[in-house]
Amino acid sequence: MPAFWNEPDWDEHERVEVVHDRTSGLTAIIALHSTHLGPGAGGTRFWHYADPAGAMRDALRLSRGMSYKNAMAGLPMGGGKAVVLLDKDGKKTKAMLHAFGDAVEAMGGRYVTAEDVGATVADMVAIAERTSHVCGLPVGEGDAGGDPGPFTAMGIYHGIKAAVAHKLEKDSMEGVRVAIQGCGSVGGGVAKLLAKDGAVLTLSDINDDRARALAAELGAEAVAADQVMGVECDVFSPNALGAILDDAGIAGLDCAIVAGGANNQLARPEHGAQLHERGILYAPDYVINAGGIINVSLEYLCRQQGEPCDIDEVRKRIAQIPGRLKAIWNESDACGRPSNEVADAMAQTLIGRGA
Ligand code: NAD
Repeated sequence: MPAFWNEPDWDEHERVEVVHDRTSGLTAIIALHSTHLGPGAGGTRFWHYADPAGAMRDALRLSRGMSYKNAMAGLPMGGGKAVVLLDKDGKKTKAMLHAFGDAVEAMGGRYVTAEDVGATVADMVAIAERTSHVCGLPVGEGDAGGDPGPFTAMGIYHGIKAAVAHKLEKDSMEGVRVAIQGCGSVGGGVAKLLAKDGAVLTLSDINDDRARALAAELGAEAVAADQVMGVECDVFSPNALGAILDDAGIAGLDCAIVAGGANNQLARPEHGAQLHERGILYAPDYVINAGGIINVSLEYLCRQQGEPCDIDEVRKRIAQIPGRLKAIWNESDACGRPSNEVADAMAQTLIGRGA
């Protein structure tokens, strides 16, 4: 593995731990980017990586993204993220989850974990048997917490409406054409919310059956996963994997707006400039997709204080996402810089790393 301080994504991370537990077979990386605003909060990704360097890159990029996301969401949390390196079969055992919980506990509360890709609420329950520094746990009716996906979708829905108002000067989603990549927890949730508002949806997923079933339910069209980025639409909403906005991906877009929940959508920061040059309005991913972390962070903070956390507080904070996006776009319009650069500068200032 190359030394990670030579990695382009190494960004003065406060701490990076490689965890190996021989008994359970767990191999994991916990990356703590910044605790300037509070404990580093960010989910754990369970994934089979082709090589360990790829896992390290993911952990470094995702943890920096969490610092920016939590700061821009106004949360008293820093940024961290963990990846668990699964074998080819994706085998995940209770012993591995316990060993991972022990590793989180050993960080003494400087890192707080939750769900990410490949993780379930049940996984968090198993991790919670070994550490209290975990959220996204089952909660009572009307309390904040639990599966972050629907709350992430809610924030993206608000953010897409704000983008349509800013770019297309429309105050309704009726007839607005939205192409959605990924129909999982987040993309599926976004699709359902937009369908209620009369948006015209094109859905795609590498799991064709999933896209087709949702399209049938919502009266939408389904297209093959390799076609969605070329669909003529008003909004392209990426809700699957990261790094899809590269040279080829951007060249093929036929939309006015890119706004979706996938983390690290830009393959490299300069791809934000390419979108800007093409006149495509970009909603910085870590700003628009903060709904889930708002939900589980409030769950964690309330639990630490021994109090239940009202879901209305979560909804109130998620409703502030459009205002943050508008501030970024207004600044971008005023200074002529791409929205991703404007957002990064704002976030860096908030975490005490401004220019
Ligand atoms: P998920 O696993 O529930 O859904 C992802 C979906 O994308 C799956 O249906 C999968 O088949 C599909 N997919 C994968 N590759 C694809 C491709 N190339 N083209 C089309 N579809 C593809 O995951 P999720 O929780 O919905 O998360 C989606 C994205 O949002 C991820 O990038 C995740 O990091 C990000 N995100 C999720 C949350 C959350 O609260 N769940 C919060 C912030 C960001």
